[in-house]
Amino acid sequence: MSIRLTVDTKAWRRHLSATAATVPGLVPVAKGNGYGFGIDVLASEATRLGADTLAVGRSHEVRTAREAGFQGDIVVLTSWRHFEPRDVDVLTDPGVIVTLGSVDDIKRLTDMCPGARVLLEVETSMRRHGLDPAELRRAVSLLDGLTLLGWTIHLPMTGNASTEASSLAALALDALPGTLWLSHVSPADAGVLAEQFGVDVRLRMGTPLWLHSPALTTDAAVLDVHQVSAGERVGYWQHRVPMAGWVVVVSGGTANGVALSAPSSGASLKRRAITAAEGLLDASGVARSPYTIAGRKRIFVEPPHMQESLVFVPGAACPVAIGDRVPVELRLTTATVDEIDFR
Ligand SMILES: *Cc1c(COP(=O)(O)O)cnc(C)c1O
Repeated sequence: MSIRLTVDTKAWRRHLSATAATVPGLVPVAKGNGYGFGIDVLASEATRLGADTLAVGRSHEVRTAREAGFQGDIVVLTSWRHFEPRDVDVLTDPGVIVTLGSVDDIKRLTDMCPGARVLLEVETSMRRHGLDPAELRRAVSLLDGLTLLGWTIHLPMTGNASTEASSLAALALDALPGTLWLSHVSPADAGVLAEQFGVDVRLRMGTPLWLHSPALTTDAAVLDVHQVSAGERVGYWQHRVPMAGWVVVVSGGTANGVALSAPSSGASLKRRAITAAEGLLDASGVARSPYTIAGRKRIFVEPPHMQESLVFVPGAACPVAIGDRVPVELRLTTATVDEIDFR
């Protein structure tokens, strides 16, 4: 009675292998909620793929990947910061590679963990982390006590990533030649950069690798159905239903990441019904729920509860019965499923 992710395991692994085959030197990314699977599952799949290196988001995630048996190198993507020196024991794992994005942090890590293996991050138009391009030479001059494995460039999703990658890479490699670790560049563009600069390129990839596969489906259970008449009040917020029909109680709620931009409790159900009928999004957020019943996305009666949601289906006959399963659309990077069924 839960939100379930069903994996056609053979088809999914075919997709993983096919993707890896198009990306020489692929570094699979397994961080956060593990793209809906969990970091442990992805770490095992990375081993199956023969990846020599895995990327995690934060240092504590290294342990999860190790416990899942990943034996290669593990890059921690989030920059190490001297004011958050947690999980220092992780740094003693000789397979760990730390990301550094400031001159100050280079000095501090040298003091704390001489010899640590590091990547230096170059600031991009994302304006998130990294060394200012003007600081790269100075950063290199401070590297005596550390082992530099290359430069890391994390590019935005939109815009001309390959042009930006090329100009930043030129600056970095001019300061010191080394491997380029890139994100959000196409495999073809990565190949062009490798050729252009005569260096190795490692491409990090999460979403396209783990999730861009039709082998994954998510569904929910129908927990209860209630026939209601037009104008009847229902739910926590006692909104009136717009017409005669059914309140269908389905598994999955905020704890599962269902409809993170849920409609506000203030918007009237009638308004939402009209909006949904028109197939539009209303001003308060998403009008339609991610649940499909009898071929259509249905409206929420009200914002999702913690682990269940109430949706409305108009009509005299209820198209689903208690115990049925219905498709639910989830963004797996923000979802927590209750169950994973590897078929
Ligand atoms: C999360 C992350 C990735 C993976 O991004 P996807 O869009 O999931 O492929 C790559 N590089 C860095 C630095 C990241 O933090």
